[in-house]
Formats: sequence, C-alpha cells, structure tokens
Amino acid sequence: MKRVYPKEEYCMGCALCLVACVVEHSESKDILLAYKKESPRPGERNVVEEGFEGDCFSLQCRHCERPDCVDACINGALYRDDGVIKVNKDHCVACWMCIMACPYGCIYKEKNREGGWNSNKCDLCPDREIPACAEVCPNRALVYEER
Ligand code: SF4
Ligand code: SF4
Repeated sequence: MKRVYPKEEYCMGCALCLVACVVEHSESKDILLAYKKESPRPGERNVVEEGFEGDCFSLQCRHCERPDCVDACINGALYRDDGVIKVNKDHCVACWMCIMACPYGCIYKEKNREGGWNSNKCDLCPDREIPACAEVCPNRALVYEER
C-alpha cells in the first residue's frame, strides 16, 4: 500500500505539513477558521523532528504491518481498515497505552469537544487522493508512494 515517506535531504522544517494536516482534519477546511475559531482546534497528526546540524524531517504513522499500537490498545479503539491504521475515538479511554507502544512516536493526545481526551493519528486523509501533508510540501520532502 502507499504510505507517506520523508526525504530529509529536502526538508527545511517549515512545518507547512502540520498546518495542512490540521486544516484537512478541521470542520471548516479553512486555515483561518481552523486555527482561530474552531474549539478545540484539530490536533496535528504528524511531527517535524529536528536533529543536529540543521537536519530535520516530517514523521507520520508508518501504518505498520504488525502495529504495536493496535496490540496495546486496551479497548479496541485502534484497528486496521484496508491497510490503514485508524482510531475509533468513541472507543478511546485515553489510557495512552498506544502512545507508549508506538516505536515511532506517531500517536498524539487530542482534546475532544466533550472536554475529554482521545488519541489521534494519521489516517492518510481518506477524502483525498494524496494526503494533505505530502501535497502541500513545497520541497517534495514528503512523498506518497508504494515501496
Ligand atoms: S501508530 Fe505507530 S505502531 Fe501504530 S501503525 Fe502507526 S507507526 Fe505503527
Ligand atoms: S489511549 Fe485510546 S486508543 Fe490508545 S490504547 Fe488507550 S484506549 Fe486505545
């Protein structure tokens, strides 16, 4: 299956991929409304890691063949859907076992509308042909391809 892969040699750490992710998963799909009006603001589902000497890369879920997060979830909230690892937020009890289990650090805490918390992760943008992070990157430092 296709996944999003980083090319660190082209990443300049601008974090536009994070912004595109937030907007894509917002209700309005509008950058200003998503950031300034929606409450709680949709959480990011990827992270830009910065290393020494200025190198950096954007990291998101690997959609593992054998996902430790799914095995670790105590309430069946994480599941595979046609290869994509997804979270059913209604089943999440915010125990954070998945966060501890993911070897890539690709699951995040998200505040929900009820004032509680649930886990949040990359879903490869099911409404798009190319995930928003990969499409927005001005340097093609994220590619969406089969390997
Ligand atoms: S969240 Fe982590 S463990 Fe789960 S599928 Fe993604 S990379 Fe693998
Ligand atoms: S935080 Fe939610 S998704 Fe993660 S292991 Fe706990 S119940 Fe499952």
